[in-house]
Amino acid sequence: MKFTILTLFPEIVKAYFEASVMKKAVAAGIIEYELVNIRDYAHDRHHKCDDEVFGGGAGMLMKPEPLDRALEAAGSPAQRTVYVTPSGRLFNQKMAEEFASGGNLIIVCGRYEGIDQRIIDTRITDEVSIGDYVLSSGEVAAMVLVDAVYRLKPGVISGESLEEESFASGLLEYPQYTRPAVYDTMRVPDVLTSGNHAQIARWRLKASVAKTLAYRPELLSKDNLPGEVDSLLREVIDEGGWHEPGTSDPGRTDQK
Ligand code: SAM
Repeated sequence: MKFTILTLFPEIVKAYFEASVMKKAVAAGIIEYELVNIRDYAHDRHHKCDDEVFGGGAGMLMKPEPLDRALEAAGSPAQRTVYVTPSGRLFNQKMAEEFASGGNLIIVCGRYEGIDQRIIDTRITDEVSIGDYVLSSGEVAAMVLVDAVYRLKPGVISGESLEEESFASGLLEYPQYTRPAVYDTMRVPDVLTSGNHAQIARWRLKASVAKTLAYRPELLSKDNLPGEVDSLLREVIDEGGWHEPGTSDPGRTDQK
């Protein structure tokens, strides 16, 4: 899968593709990437990429001509072309899965007040927001999108890890622990060291239900949840629900 990122600041994005798991995915040929500097397509003397907004208002807008040429060269709109923008469709795991199972992606990073609407009308196939807040530019949003998508490609990380993550089952992920079993007087829940796989699975599902109820209750109304969720939900409510971070921890033998 190839990601083509159009940006005024390729150096912000470059390091991301050259480290860690992404670096390995690129070396293995699972992922390809191209960073396009939009300014290279601005043909005036000063390589100008922004201008004032018609109708007035604060801030500048990215000019259509350089972006249009850069997108034409990248293969848009025949190839799926995402503009990351706070006024787009809200990004989620389902969308990441949809992108991962499709073809190559071109991603446009905005700056200033964003990009000229005529580019959106003619070159963009998807407007995607990574959340209900405004970033100063699109590079971080583009990296969020790429990161959520590329790790779903076969061979990047194990399928088992993906199956147990938040959202994969429709719930948030349960809490996890590693060695040592007792750290600073805090003990890992006994069930997790018991070796009883059925009880471990039940504990995890119940913890997922409790955490989802506390942080994302709307997810519990989905109809694709595991069958035992309803009865575990009743247990969770009867027992007082989720322990927020910084409040009492049931695994702790002496609270600080
Ligand atoms: N004037 C725009 C608005 O109110 O919707 C905000 C522009 S923002 C300062 C500059 C650029 O950052 C945008 O063009 C977009 O590419 C990126 N950006 C900011 N917030 C984002 C978000 N929540 N999701 C995706 N991209 C975002």
